[in-house]
Amino acid sequence: MNIGAHVRGGGKLVPSLEAGVEIGATSVQIFTQSPRMWKPSQYAPEVLANYREAQAAHPTITHTFCHATYLINLASPDRELYEKSVACLVHNLSVGRGMGSSGVVLHVGSHMGAGFDSVIRQIAEAFERAFETADPTPAGVKDCPILIENAAGTGGTVGRSLEEIEALISACAHDERLGLCIDTQHLWASGVDYSSVAGTNKLVKEIDRRVGIDRLRCLHLNDSKIELGGNRDRHANIDEGTIGTAGLAPLVGHPSIRELPLLLEVPGGGDGPRAEDVVKARKVVTAGVKLYDASAKPAKTATSSTASKKPVAKKSAVKKPATKRPTTKKPPSKSTAAGRLAVKKSTPKK
Ligand SMILES: [Zn+2]
Ligand SMILES: [Zn+2]
Repeated sequence: MNIGAHVRGGGKLVPSLEAGVEIGATSVQIFTQSPRMWKPSQYAPEVLANYREAQAAHPTITHTFCHATYLINLASPDRELYEKSVACLVHNLSVGRGMGSSGVVLHVGSHMGAGFDSVIRQIAEAFERAFETADPTPAGVKDCPILIENAAGTGGTVGRSLEEIEALISACAHDERLGLCIDTQHLWASGVDYSSVAGTNKLVKEIDRRVGIDRLRCLHLNDSKIELGGNRDRHANIDEGTIGTAGLAPLVGHPSIRELPLLLEVPGGGDGPRAEDVVKARKVVTAGVKLYDASAKPAKTATSSTASKKPVAKKSAVKKPATKRPTTKKPPSKSTAAGRLAVKKSTPKK
């Protein structure tokens, strides 16, 4: 289990590690510049090197992720905004590489109604330019990927389904420097119901089929103020939202996910994740792991009254089209607006 948290960044960087330690996190995520301003923060090479050393020497923090600037919009039809966005991504990636970060998590942006298909090429070009022109990864340091974060599905946001993310990765010839960060709240808001073991299994298969499970490098672990399919980005503290411990447990307990860094981006008491939020997150993972370990034991059935809680039992009747759809070619077009395609049965890859 690896519970991380978004913590405060700041000019010296190293204090972020301490901030993570203080609340009991084992991974951290930071903004390397003010997330709502274009102005890049410049870091001297020594500051970046210091961070790498501090991280390497640190006994408990295993990963550092950088969250890219929110203003970036690689899907913008406005050329000037697009160029600013690329430049900003380049800078974010330079810092991430310099720090030895495990990934720069990125909201791709919004096509503002122009349609996803019409912006795929410009987004792919932006990724290529970033990989090419960012400051190189220091010798001996693991390369820092760009991790596309799934979107909650508001307006024309790109990355609202795994299908869209798959299309972006394909457009970059499956560049291995592109990865995925799944935000549990965004996924919920985009209509993906993972709150049962069956739902999660289906999702994980879908991730693997569309982008490859190895590209999934971390999750943002958040509860939701918005209902399933509500298409808005509103994080809640763990167990205080519409997903709850019971709904999150199957996802974070899944064998392919339980060891990934799970980064809290919860409001806490208004100032971000606290120690108690980390504790709650650990409990969710523990509950989730039990779901799978219990079902691995042949003797126990779902109805047995074992000690382990079965928090998602009531969710088993997930609303679905009445009959199982045969795997026909009902081509879900790449440009579809439906954000909830992500785990829908759809045409096989390639
Ligand atoms: Zn994000
Ligand atoms: Zn969010």
